[in-house]
Amino acid sequence: MYVSMKDMLLHAHHNNYAVMAINCVNMEQAKAIIQSADEEKSAVIINISPRQMKAHGHGEIMAPMIKNMAEKVPVPVAFNLDHGASFEDITDAMKFGFSSVMIDSSSFEFEENVRRTQQIASLAHGMGLSCEAELGHVGQAAADDNSNVDLYTNVKQAKEFVERTKCDCLAIAIGTAHGAYPKGMVPKLDFDRLRELKTELNMPLVLHGGSGAGEENIKKAVACGINKINVCTDLFRHATNATIEAVKENPMIDYMDLCIEAQNAMKDFIKSYMRVIGSSGQYSFKKDNGPELD
Ligand SMILES: [Zn+2]
Repeated sequence: MYVSMKDMLLHAHHNNYAVMAINCVNMEQAKAIIQSADEEKSAVIINISPRQMKAHGHGEIMAPMIKNMAEKVPVPVAFNLDHGASFEDITDAMKFGFSSVMIDSSSFEFEENVRRTQQIASLAHGMGLSCEAELGHVGQAAADDNSNVDLYTNVKQAKEFVERTKCDCLAIAIGTAHGAYPKGMVPKLDFDRLRELKTELNMPLVLHGGSGAGEENIKKAVACGINKINVCTDLFRHATNATIEAVKENPMIDYMDLCIEAQNAMKDFIKSYMRVIGSSGQYSFKKDNGPELD
């Protein structure tokens, strides 16, 4: 089922679990993600960023392909533009058939972030798409942005931001960052701030930079109100490791078989992650009456 993120994240919000949002750059990866969701009876979000689209699967090609694959499974699958920055990137994604867009104006001043997000949210809603926004700023692990409290989401501002922009879900900064953390380092998350944000906003909240945050942090973040977790670095790492192992074992391995090895490793990772964040088994379907939530 090809859908926007709106209803699936509301379901997660009301039932206290989170949905994976996985960065995906090609068909093999899309297949691994959608098959995992189907086998786990879980919703899933497929993410692609403008930068990834330039180097890999362009949105114009990815959107119809993902829509086609998603319509063959009963579980909800959304395709979301990750970190849309320019008006052009976002409206292009809308034209290509994405089911959701993220507008990331988190590096702008509050009023400018509100203005830009308002504009995109109203466009998206007019087309039946969902809109994710970001307040506070989830920076880069390499720059140690995760420990910069000045970048964290301000609770009072967040309430005003959501009311004015009408975004469907909000990415918040509570101590994670994008990319790989320095070796051996596990980020310290501000769970008090997360609990406060959940109580004040009472809506789906998003965690970026979940890779390398550790299972304990992830589980606690979900328990405190995170409903969408972006996963990129961790998944690519699994695919790379599986590829290295397969080549070590058989240096003459065929490229197609290599893709399958990576695909299977990604599936193992995704399926176990879905169990950790509680999205597994949320969508069971009754044969005769069509799809129905448990
Ligand atoms: Zn992100």
